[in-house]
Amino acid sequence: MKYLLVILVLVVAWMMGSRGRGNAAPPPPTRRHRTGDGAAREQMLACTHCGVHLPQSEAVKDAAGRPYCGEAHRLAGPRGPA
Ligand SMILES: [Zn+2]
Repeated sequence: MKYLLVILVLVVAWMMGSRGRGNAAPPPPTRRHRTGDGAAREQMLACTHCGVHLPQSEAVKDAAGRPYCGEAHRLAGPRGPA
C-alpha cells in the first residue's frame, strides 16, 4: 500500500510536470528596440569623398559644410583623382 501511494504521487507529479511543459507558452521574442541612444533616427550623411554613409554626429565637415567619413577624407576633399 505504501508503494502504491509513492507510485501515485510520482504519477501525479509526472502528469503535472508534463502538462506544465505542454501548456508553457513559448518565450516571447527578445527583440528590443533601441530607443535610448537615438542613433536609429539620426540623419545619415554620405561621405563626399567615398560615399560611405555615417550618422550626422560622426561626420566631419569641411568649410563648405560637406560631410566626410573622417579627417583623412576631409583633407582629401571631394571625390578627386584616384
Ligand atoms: Zn569617406
